[in-house]
Amino acid sequence: MSTDCIFCKLADGRIPTQFLHEDDLVVAFKDTNPQAPVHYLIVPRAHVASVAALETQHLPAVARCLEVAQRLAREAKVERRGFRLVVNTGQDAGQTVDHLHVHLLAGRPMEWPPG
Ligand code: AMP
Ligand code: ZN
Repeated sequence: MSTDCIFCKLADGRIPTQFLHEDDLVVAFKDTNPQAPVHYLIVPRAHVASVAALETQHLPAVARCLEVAQRLAREAKVERRGFRLVVNTGQDAGQTVDHLHVHLLAGRPMEWPPG
C-alpha cells in the first residue's frame, strides 16, 4: 500500500468505486476517461509502480490480471471481435499513474502502430 497512490486508494476502498471484478490479488474498474466503448483497468492490489519494478513475488498478480482480462472481455462480448491489452510503462509510453495496471480496450477497430 502506498499512502498517496490513487489506485491503492481505489483498490483498498479509501476511494469508493464500483468494481467490475475483485479478488484477493486484483481489482478491475472502468476507466474514467474511456478511449474506447469498453475501457477497463485491471489493477493488482499490491503497489508496484510499473512493469519496470516487477519482482518475482508480483507475478501471480500479473498472471491474474490476464485471467481477469480474459473473463471481462468474455463478459463484455468482445472476445470474438478482439480486444487490446495495454500496459504503459514509463514516461515515453505515457504512463500517468505509477501503479501497475492493464488497460482492456475494445468495441472499435484499433490501429497499429499505436500513437
Ligand atoms: P496510464 O496513462 O497508462 O497510466 O493510465 C492511467 C489511466 O487511469 C488513464 O486512462 C486514466 O483515465 C485512468 N484513471 C485515472 N484516475 C482514475 C480513477 N480515479 N478511476 C478510474 N480511472 C482513472
Ligand atoms: Zn498504488
